Amino acid sequence: MSQRILVVEDEPAIADTITYALHTEGFEVEWCATGEESLRILAANPVDLIVLDVGLPDRNGFDLCKEIRKTSAVPVIFLTARTSEVDRVVGLEIGGDDYVAKPFSPRELAARVKAVLRRTPSVQGESNAARANSPFFIDKDRMQILYFGKPLDLSRYEFRILEVLLRRPGWVYSRDKLMEMVWEAPEASMDRTVDTHVKTVRAKLKAIKPDLDPILTHRGVGYSLRESW
Ligand code: CA
Repeated sequence: MSQRILVVEDEPAIADTITYALHTEGFEVEWCATGEESLRILAANPVDLIVLDVGLPDRNGFDLCKEIRKTSAVPVIFLTARTSEVDRVVGLEIGGDDYVAKPFSPRELAARVKAVLRRTPSVQGESNAARANSPFFIDKDRMQILYFGKPLDLSRYEFRILEVLLRRPGWVYSRDKLMEMVWEAPEASMDRTVDTHVKTVRAKLKAIKPDLDPILTHRGVGYSLRESW
């Protein structure tokens, strides 16, 4: 299945060039010319990456990225006519993954797209946390979980609880099941209840996004991770 790229660019000539270059590389490309349209497309169907022009007719690409970041960790590559260092820093600070200054060669852009996708977990990846639209990213090498790009400082058990929930978003895990999957010797850790650890994981997620609670409580049963973002 080919990866889907959304190109948000109001200049048709530039959009055509990008679309052609990405098609050549085997990507499926969707194009729109305004920020509002891009939000509608994203709400209807997740994409694997967004190429986002900073100067759009209806809104600034940086603001648009901030809005997209409220619900999605999809990689974003900015296109801009301005090349100042300030723009570059601002773009990456608000959650952009890379930055290409106009004029650029289509091949260079295609290479950047591939590079960003290589370091992003694939949609079909083993872990469901790897869904392009999930704000979570499991860095297995470092035993670390990133949430909206920020590393969570988790204890061993907190890491394992969250990692289990991330495997199947929407799936309800009972406390007993979590106990069994997370703790090596449940009897030995009776005082370390699942509830206590879920509570501390939640607090750490809230420290990054105060208005979001991605872990759902199923009263009398257990916990699950939010399914859609
Ligand atoms: Ca423009």
